[in-house]
Amino acid sequence: MIEQLEQYAKEHKIPIMLKDGIDYLCNYIKEHNIKNILEIGTAIGYSAIRMAQVSPDISITTIEKDEERYNLAKENIKHLNLENRIRVIYGDALETVIEGTFDLIFIDASKGHSIDFFKRYLSNLKQDGVIITDNLSFHGLVEDDSLAVTKNQRSIVKKIKKFIEFLDNHQEFVTKYINVGDKISISRRNSC
Ligand code: SAH
Ligand code: MG
Repeated sequence: MIEQLEQYAKEHKIPIMLKDGIDYLCNYIKEHNIKNILEIGTAIGYSAIRMAQVSPDISITTIEKDEERYNLAKENIKHLNLENRIRVIYGDALETVIEGTFDLIFIDASKGHSIDFFKRYLSNLKQDGVIITDNLSFHGLVEDDSLAVTKNQRSIVKKIKKFIEFLDNHQEFVTKYINVGDKISISRRNSC
């Protein structure tokens, strides 16, 4: 089933997490005993399913704005009998209001909006929680912006650089960057 999802994503050009990235994330969840997760950007449910499979006492809320992907995610999650542990919300995460607090907030939606998601869901993070964001490299374009040829790519690169600057200058959080997948950031509160 997992392989089928990977195959489907490849065929339909759906940007699910790269293998070493999701493996790293699942390991991190295990090692830090993370139980409640808020994910921004479900796509077809691949990363949510992978994270849920780390342990049977993990629960996930995940938000997707694309109706077709939302429906596919629901189907895939049901197929694996994970609908009690993965709640999929259909909506734009720039506007969604979520109740409750989480051990992990995983941001993996539109690459140019990470600052907005970070700020918006900060109140949903437990005191000792962690915010992990995907796509800090944007296929290497952030490190070498001469590779960004289209206007859209340049705009995204600029926004990712701004996000990195935002993280590096954040008073409350300490961030480390891990070069797995498309590069992720891991942000924790200073005191934790
Ligand atoms: N986390 C997934 C991949 C997500 S791809 C995995 O690894 O399996 C990014 C997804 O974010 C896309 O499906 C896109 O439709 C969704 N997205 C982008 N902007 C969004 C927003 N503002 N609110 C909710 N979903 C969004
Ligand atoms: Mg991603």
